[in-house]
Amino acid sequence: MENKTLYDVIIIGSGPSGLTAGIYASRGNRKTLILAGRKWGGQLMLTTEVENFPGFPEPIMGPELMKRMRDQAVRYGAEILDVNFTGANYTSKPFEVSTDDDKKYYSKSIIVSTGADTKWLQIPGEQEKIGRGVSSCAPCDAAFYRNKRVVVIGGGDSAMEEALVLTKFAQEVYVIHRREEFKASDVMQKKVFENEKIKVIWNTEPLEVLGEMKVEALRLKSKIKDQNAKIKVKVQNDEKDLSVEELGGSIVSNENNEIVWEFPADGIFVAIGHIPNSQIFEGIEKDEKGFIKQYPGSKTNIEGVFVSGDVHDSTYMQGVTAAGYGCQAAIDAEKYLEMGE
Ligand code: NDP
Repeated sequence: MENKTLYDVIIIGSGPSGLTAGIYASRGNRKTLILAGRKWGGQLMLTTEVENFPGFPEPIMGPELMKRMRDQAVRYGAEILDVNFTGANYTSKPFEVSTDDDKKYYSKSIIVSTGADTKWLQIPGEQEKIGRGVSSCAPCDAAFYRNKRVVVIGGGDSAMEEALVLTKFAQEVYVIHRREEFKASDVMQKKVFENEKIKVIWNTEPLEVLGEMKVEALRLKSKIKDQNAKIKVKVQNDEKDLSVEELGGSIVSNENNEIVWEFPADGIFVAIGHIPNSQIFEGIEKDEKGFIKQYPGSKTNIEGVFVSGDVHDSTYMQGVTAAGYGCQAAIDAEKYLEMGE
């Protein structure tokens, strides 16, 4: 089925970036359609309190913040459809855009704001236990782990944030990182190191998620300095060398300064970064990690197609930066539309 309406801008995605682009485009009196996706709102829908979005001196819940952005876009006239984008023909103008309810829409310009999704470890046992002990969202799932032992994998700000959220429920939280220092910001590291419920296990990589129907343990590989099989651990700012037994695990093998061991755990939170949602945009140039390439401003390699937010930004990935990029893309689209008039 075709909707013959000609839009000035179709925005694909409804995180802070897409909705901000929608607010700017519709407030600029441009006929605007936002294809929000069947799970609208993006990563902030998976968070609890947002403390660093300007304008909210008291924390605001992520889903509430997104609802306000959506309401603001609608208030200025943006149409929003909770359907998934399935493809577009970029070779002729207006662009023809398809959705997963077999409809087609037409637009003079497109803004791609599809964000990024969780990067998984891709180890045996992981994918089939998502929702059965494996998670990527502590704010969503932490309450299931009251008084339990949980593991967070990663060394960036996401891993720190996940670990801190988990301490509100779990009894023991272990952050397992493949190196001996975190990549996370100092302020987040400090909070983690000071928390009495968190132990950091360094130089350790997960090999397999173990368990019958749900997560029961994790098979790990740790680099050790000598044959005494001690693993470097940080507990409340104190660096220690602990044996596998002291950590509550059991050794599987000990060879070439590497121990393979099993560590009982009830939950595993994977926080090792994100993958941009760019696969569906055939013909739009991306870098080697899949982030959409930006040309001056928010232009892509296709004239009339703009990009904003985490789908192009591998560095900042904040709600407020995504919103800023959405504003930039809407202004760039506006200039492009003016040129055609
Ligand atoms: P990052 O890319 O910053 O960190 C990923 C971490 O996971 C790194 O420590 C990396 O290890 C580790 N890692 C990557 N792949 C693997 C793997 N296969 N196995 C084991 N470990 C792996 O991602 P984040 O999601 O943490 O953060 C993304 C961006 O979002 C950052 O800019 C961050 O600052 C921001 N952010 C900010 C927050 C805040 O300010 N409140 C909250 C959350 C995110 P290594 O260090 O060895 O490379």
